Amino acid sequence: MDYHYTKRYYPSLDYADSSERSGKEVMSKGSSGMEVILSSLENSRDVQTTLNIMCILSELLTVGRGRRVGVFVSKGGTGVLFQILISASKELPSSEELMLQLHSLLAKVGPKDRKFGVKARLSGALNVTVDVVKQNLQNAKVLLPCLQVLRIYSNNSVNAISLGKTGMVEIIFKIVGPYSKKNTSLFKVALDALGALLKSKTNARRAVDSGHVPVLLALYLDWHRNDTRHRCMLIRKGLLVCLRNITNLKLGRRAFLEADGMRILYHSSTECLPVRTLDPLINTSSLIMRKCFPKNRLPVPTIKSAFHFLLHQVPPGGPVDQLYNQLSGVDDVVDESDDNEEAEGETDTENDEDKDQCSLNDDIETDLNKLHPIRNIGRSFEELKDYQKFFSELSEDFQGYSFDISKSASPSTYLFSSSSARFSRPAEVPTAQTPSPKQIPDSQNVCTSVKEHQTLSCPFLASSQTPLDLDTIHLSKNKDQQEGINIPAPDRRTAPTSISTSLCQSHMIEQELSHQLEGVSLEDKGSQNAEAGSEKVKHEGSPVNNLRHFQPPVLLGGFPIRRTGGGGSNVGSDCGSEGTEDEAGDAPLLEVPDTARLLPLHDPDLYVEMVKGTQSVPQYAEVAYPDYFGHIAPMLKEPLLERIYGVQRSKIFQDIERLIHPNDILDKVVYDIDHPSSMIEENGESLKFNSQFESGNLRKAIQVRKSEYDLVLNADINSNHYHQWFYFEVSGMRTGTGYRFNIINCEKSNSQFNYGMQPLMYSVQEAIGGKPQWVRTGTDICYYKNHFARSSVATGGQKGKSYYTLTFTVTFIHKDDVCYFAYHYPYTYSTLKMHLSKLEDMRTPQIYLRQDVLCETLSGNTCPLLTITAMPESKSTDHICQFRNRPFIFLSARVHPGETNASWVMKGTLEFLMGTSPLAVNLREAYIFKIVPMLNPDGVVNGNHRCSLSGEDLNRQWQNPDPELHPTIYHTKSLLQYLAYIQRTPLVFCDYHGHSRKKNVFMYGCSVKETVWQSDISATSSDLQEDLGYRTLPKILSQIAPAFSLASSSFVVERSKESTARVVVWREIGVKRSYTMESTLCGCDQGKYKGLQISTRELEEMGAQFCVAMLRLKRLTSLRNHQNLLDLESDIIGTQSKNVSSCTTTYVLEEDEPSFLEAIDYSAESNDEDAGPESDVCGDGQENFDQLSDSETIHRN
Ligand SMILES: [Zn+2]
Repeated sequence: MDYHYTKRYYPSLDYADSSERSGKEVMSKGSSGMEVILSSLENSRDVQTTLNIMCILSELLTVGRGRRVGVFVSKGGTGVLFQILISASKELPSSEELMLQLHSLLAKVGPKDRKFGVKARLSGALNVTVDVVKQNLQNAKVLLPCLQVLRIYSNNSVNAISLGKTGMVEIIFKIVGPYSKKNTSLFKVALDALGALLKSKTNARRAVDSGHVPVLLALYLDWHRNDTRHRCMLIRKGLLVCLRNITNLKLGRRAFLEADGMRILYHSSTECLPVRTLDPLINTSSLIMRKCFPKNRLPVPTIKSAFHFLLHQVPPGGPVDQLYNQLSGVDDVVDESDDNEEAEGETDTENDEDKDQCSLNDDIETDLNKLHPIRNIGRSFEELKDYQKFFSELSEDFQGYSFDISKSASPSTYLFSSSSARFSRPAEVPTAQTPSPKQIPDSQNVCTSVKEHQTLSCPFLASSQTPLDLDTIHLSKNKDQQEGINIPAPDRRTAPTSISTSLCQSHMIEQELSHQLEGVSLEDKGSQNAEAGSEKVKHEGSPVNNLRHFQPPVLLGGFPIRRTGGGGSNVGSDCGSEGTEDEAGDAPLLEVPDTARLLPLHDPDLYVEMVKGTQSVPQYAEVAYPDYFGHIAPMLKEPLLERIYGVQRSKIFQDIERLIHPNDILDKVVYDIDHPSSMIEENGESLKFNSQFESGNLRKAIQVRKSEYDLVLNADINSNHYHQWFYFEVSGMRTGTGYRFNIINCEKSNSQFNYGMQPLMYSVQEAIGGKPQWVRTGTDICYYKNHFARSSVATGGQKGKSYYTLTFTVTFIHKDDVCYFAYHYPYTYSTLKMHLSKLEDMRTPQIYLRQDVLCETLSGNTCPLLTITAMPESKSTDHICQFRNRPFIFLSARVHPGETNASWVMKGTLEFLMGTSPLAVNLREAYIFKIVPMLNPDGVVNGNHRCSLSGEDLNRQWQNPDPELHPTIYHTKSLLQYLAYIQRTPLVFCDYHGHSRKKNVFMYGCSVKETVWQSDISATSSDLQEDLGYRTLPKILSQIAPAFSLASSSFVVERSKESTARVVVWREIGVKRSYTMESTLCGCDQGKYKGLQISTRELEEMGAQFCVAMLRLKRLTSLRNHQNLLDLESDIIGTQSKNVSSCTTTYVLEEDEPSFLEAIDYSAESNDEDAGPESDVCGDGQENFDQLSDSETIHRN
């Protein structure tokens, strides 16, 4: 029987369907039609009238979708229906027809009424429905709508528990049965109700205790086998949902495993794979299997970093204190009671219907006092005066300086000369404790010193600064020339040759080149023991046989260094695998890419020199080829990788197969920095790994299957987490095989690797062949939650957490290649020092460039500070005055070591600032740039992702930096405090960062007004008075820089950011334009680069465009009195548009800046359960019913 019977029995229905128009009138706004119907319903005293009115209602509510139901609910209709239900239940015998109609109507309105469950319980209607169900177990007609209503009741967890107590779970298990073509709608509805009931852990526990897990599995298998035409997919799905909810319980997972659930779901899913419409079954099965997959132990002895750095001072209660205060012998890799039952107690409350009210903005700073600048610097001039020496440009009078251009010279450089003697000169570390009154370098002496090599290198530089083109890479095959290069020669920089500038340019280049080549075959000593290691890897058919011998680049303290290629078996040997060393030196030599000629700031020899002065905790003695050769951004476009359908699923199934077919698993450790001796000998069956070089990060590699490797990253030093950055070498590969790499201890809950980002690979063979470059590589990339347990020690106490896997597959093109993989384009500290040294060479007499050592880091690396501006036009008072009064621009970068993109942006900025373009000239004449290009050298050197050697995030220390623990921050802040003290507060402060979860380049700034807008704090209008200058720079950038997105920018001050550079410099130093500039690690989704992954080309361009924007900013402000004319600026660029800020949010996790701003459509838990929100579902009963059941799923982990 269907609903049409109503027409026959109740002729008055003609009123309802006489015309759609009248229906509209009843329901229209302002009409009291609904009230009339409801009041007649309430006052109706006989069953027949009640039924009539309900039929009218039913018709009315069926049309017009959810809107009419909404009106009905808002007029209190639900309550009226519950009252009628209760009254009807008191009549004996109760009218079956009435119960049927009432429940049908309730099933329609329930989903639209947020308080439906509570109202049902409080009114007593809940129990009435239970009774009706119990009385009609054989009466499918009545049972069906009652179960629909029960299902909605159960969304309230209190109701679910209460229903469980009435035995409802057991009752429904009696209703559902094995495969049958009859009663499929009833089964479906019953399973939906059961699924909802089983969300309650009490009910789930009851179901497990009654042995229902094997029952559900058997039922599922039965339907899977018999429903061959897939007509009952929703029943199959309903059974899986029940299993899914039961397995939220540890007890349930155990029962599932005991019932062989993994195998059953694995095999059934595999059989479903060819049918695309069965995806929901596969996805739900996959979810259950992932959840039940026994938690594995991460294969490391401890999650603490494999490297330890002894701090002189360990602040009590700090992260390092906590880290090492654990009792020795305590296993920190897994929790003893991981994922315990106690965490799974009933936590349901009646308030859960309101729980989606939680605010996204609870991180916004709402304390107005904290939103206003502090006028007091908090330091006395006594403490700060020492920093005067870093501002010698403010006192230099240039009287001894010759402005005669032919004698090029400019102020001194007392840093980063390649001469190790000068480099090792102790840095002056200014601290408050050690005031030294007169530290300003004698500018006169320095000014007049003329550097010969500078004039010498000019012609060479001219030729090398032409645009990069791979075709211009010079591959020397000339043997005569090669013989020439074996003659030892002094270092190019420390001992300038006597070549006069009159030499013709070609001769110069040749000469330069020969120096280059010389540098490559740096050492010949120590090569005697080379043969053993190298012979076996000498390969037939390899192009390297024809090439110039390539020697390992580094010698540290005369100790011969093995080259980084060839893996672990030739430790101690200094020989490479690219060719054989011949003591006589007349063997075919290995050609190397002449990147020094193509990259103005690169020089392999110089790089090696720089490495020698770099202090690393593991005392690295190797140099990775990519850092040595250099990187030339490829010309080709690298589009965001299109995600292949089902890639995550297939990877997860491969993971599950480890459990299903354990005999296929090799589990062979092939690399382990915790136990270097256990690394296996080369046997040709396994890849070889290496990460023992600057910025390297790979802790362990385990061969899982023939061509699949699990990789474990090392924690930041003095920490037990922050795994994200990786950089390692792979060799011993075969061609034509897809190697799957799984980085198994990632921590973030999502990654741009799910949205088109690829890791980077550098092939030494390609480099030798003329393409020295990092390229985006890898297919089948995805990022998902895995089955390796994450100890609560590293999660801030949360138990039952897992790590995440980044997986990618690579097919190598070259046999016997040495390849490197990295999270992002590496940029080491030694690279920075090399670039800074080369920047000196770019200096013209018009450029004022000074490099100071700001301080030393914890491990004794120096933190460079650059001053760049234009030389005064002459030594006239006016010119000197103009020179000294230029506004300061203060830039910093790389406080977070894993954000290497920030360094590439900084490189672009520095190169532009040192350039010869008219824009650069203007810019230098306009400002004095103070730049700390690497705020965290130690973190960079040691392959950290986030922290310094103190185990802390340095960008959370700006409020109270400790001179001993956070020297770079302490002294950088002091520089800014000094400037504030002498009333030379910078016009702009910008700290360059990288962002792992968002696309494009964008800025975070600080605005009281926008912060107030985003919160509910009340503020007076005087609180809100601020000039709009903070918007100017990002606005300009959005106009000129294609990668930059204003829409992604935000100017809200967050509580969690109160100790970041941006907020402290804004609030304490008083810099209005204080920014974090975030560059994506992934790519762009707007502008010219839309759809492309970001490369160093775009990053460097961004750095240059930042400079151009500063010039435009100059035009918009008055240089003489820039602070007073900011209003003018906001007039010119237009007033703020509020929609920009309103589309941003400040929802923050552990990331330093807002996260998840873009829709996450493929999170670790993602599956078909994540349908639309409840409000999208109208009360149309049957048709949307299954959709409804999915829409309310809440994932518990
Ligand atoms: Zn950062």
